[in-house]
Amino acid sequence: MSISRQKALQDVLERTPRIRERPANKISQYYGENVFSLHTMREYLTDEACDGILNAMENHTPISRSIADQVASAMKEWAMSRGATHYTHWFQPLTGATAEKHDSFITPTGDGRAIEKFDGSLLVQQEPDASSFPSGGIRNTFEARGYTLWDPTSQAFVWDNTLCIPTIFISYTGFALDNKMPLLKALARVDTAATDVCQYFDKNVTKVVATLGWEQEYFLVDKALHAARPDLQLTGRLLFAATPAKGQQLDDHYFGSIPARATAFMKEFELESHKLGIPVTTRHNEVAPNQFECAPVYEEANLANDHNLLLMEVMEQVARKHNFRVLLHEKPYPGLNGSGKHNNWSLGTNTNVNLLKPGNTPKTNLRFLTFFVNTLAALHKHADVVRAAIAAIGNDHRLGANEAPPAIISAFIGSQLSDLLDDLERSIKAGKLTPEDKTALKLEIGRIPEVLLDNTDRNRTSPFAFTGNKFELRAVGSTANCAVAMIVLNTIVSEQLEAFKKDVDHRIDQGDKKDDAILKELQRLITRSKAIRFEGNGYSDEWVVEAKKRGLSNLKNTPEALEVFSRKEVIKLFENQQVLAKEELSARVEVELENYILKSQIEYRVLLEMARGTILPTVVKYQNQLLTNVQGLKDVFGKDGDALSTAQMELLKTAGQWMQKLHVDANKLEALHDKAESAKTASAKAKQYAEKVVPGMNELADCCSALESLVDDALWPFPKLAELLFTK
Ligand code: ADP
Ligand code: MG
Repeated sequence: MSISRQKALQDVLERTPRIRERPANKISQYYGENVFSLHTMREYLTDEACDGILNAMENHTPISRSIADQVASAMKEWAMSRGATHYTHWFQPLTGATAEKHDSFITPTGDGRAIEKFDGSLLVQQEPDASSFPSGGIRNTFEARGYTLWDPTSQAFVWDNTLCIPTIFISYTGFALDNKMPLLKALARVDTAATDVCQYFDKNVTKVVATLGWEQEYFLVDKALHAARPDLQLTGRLLFAATPAKGQQLDDHYFGSIPARATAFMKEFELESHKLGIPVTTRHNEVAPNQFECAPVYEEANLANDHNLLLMEVMEQVARKHNFRVLLHEKPYPGLNGSGKHNNWSLGTNTNVNLLKPGNTPKTNLRFLTFFVNTLAALHKHADVVRAAIAAIGNDHRLGANEAPPAIISAFIGSQLSDLLDDLERSIKAGKLTPEDKTALKLEIGRIPEVLLDNTDRNRTSPFAFTGNKFELRAVGSTANCAVAMIVLNTIVSEQLEAFKKDVDHRIDQGDKKDDAILKELQRLITRSKAIRFEGNGYSDEWVVEAKKRGLSNLKNTPEALEVFSRKEVIKLFENQQVLAKEELSARVEVELENYILKSQIEYRVLLEMARGTILPTVVKYQNQLLTNVQGLKDVFGKDGDALSTAQMELLKTAGQWMQKLHVDANKLEALHDKAESAKTASAKAKQYAEKVVPGMNELADCCSALESLVDDALWPFPKLAELLFTK
């Protein structure tokens, strides 16, 4: 049930910021206090158990039952000391959000009492009643068994009086039903591939970790206004809105101070995040009014991803206490900037080297170039898979749609590195490299500056930008589980690094010196992947034309993008890398398509209900108001009444025309929807929604927006965009 616009606006005006003082202590004193961290483990566990866990974390070795028992009992003691009464296996079903099944620590003793109990078997494995989680046909409902298994490489934490244990979620037959399991596999794979390549440069490298630093964008809106917009409540976005007099055109929000109510919210959610060991550091305004961003210090990708999922949950809960709702949708407001979740990604070694950071010697720079060029080559080969990884209904409005930048994947690397790659491409000759050639090359490579100047002012329109010491995948949607993008990125890079190693070794076997072999192979990759490099304006129409010439895809919507996962070569990629089996991939596509269809259906229904059920009757009221007025004028002024009511007559006519159009568009939309619903397969249905129903919805939305600007403001039932943006 939505509340009235007038009531909502009144509520907001009466609000005061919820002031909650930070504890007097320094952040370091409470940081991580709700996490069963290594530090806590040392306090609660024997050295033997600690070593067992550490070994499992670093080398993925199994944990013995006796150690699991010790850990479970320590976790329970610690969690109870932090106020926990329940525990849950915390997992990431394919719908994108996280899921939990809470159990109490209590075990009845049979004599009317109960004791708190939690042992290794409960820690390690659980069988949630999982038949309602999407599994894309992998798990037949008659054996609706999925298992959650403890992931010791992440950290258990206490949130809301519950001990949460990060877990993977698999079917009875061992197939992944979540995003964490394939992520762990992709991370292990890229570790091996990158470690092997590192051997060319440094034999001390024994482990490579993929790092992830996400940046989370979001909007805040007052909860009363939110409750007065059924579209916001049920779909996360405004399905229509008249263009407000003031939107983001002044850019004054970006540099402005954060409003007091928002600051109070941020302080509290940062406090809770810090207690949970989520290293959030920056907070600032974004381009649109009431849009904000927060970012942490980067971490190992699996942990960073768990932290992002947890952060989204913490944000929502804390926001409610402050009478706010967090909008994580990629495009909550038409005509305004959408929200993304930049994924900053790099590879770091056990020797503390960032493999994507230029060094200060020719050797370290050759290592940098190796990882840099291989990443570009991987992106070039699998740009469509990266596009598919970020596909989601909300992101369709942020990428590829009419008011959004195109959905073409390309990489921005800055002019210094572009020039260098062009030079290398030209100057590395086939056949044997002469000593002079080599000296020249070494000089050139040695000259890569450690700090790349033009990358500080990088191209904001690029979906994949090199930002000095990491790549930033900017196309990820703000609601997304980063795991999906990270699975793809790490899988394609690992495939590429394996191929590179093989080709370089082959050249060495054929008699090339190691450095020559590496250089020649890099040159080949530079030439091959050139098309993916684009330094210009990625939002321009010219780029769409140019990209087409270069053979780059522009997969405009989610159903189109998801088809990529069914391509033969893509199945082979994931199977060869042992990240996802064919069945797991097709299950994912099925779940994603289903998700897309269900969400489209909801949007369709909500829009139709708002249009027919509320807007139409409002227009009728407005017309009656005008008619009464016209009639009254005629009654009072007789013939002169005509001249006095020309404006009203015109308004009546315009309102009538829009209302007719609304009626016709609604009927048309209904027909398009019915046709989509009759499609035989999920993919055909999803396609119909994307290609026919969505444009039909846009038509109807335009009518609703036009009527919003026309009808008497006092009669209009829904909060307007400017009110959502500026009422504080
Ligand atoms: P920006 O201008 O985009 O804010 P920053 O240098 O502040 O750039 O970094 C933004 C994000 O990049 C942060 O989330 C940070 O954790 C992440 N980041 C920095 N270095 C790395 C790295 N080596 N690997 C992954 N992420 C990183
Ligand atoms: Mg950034």
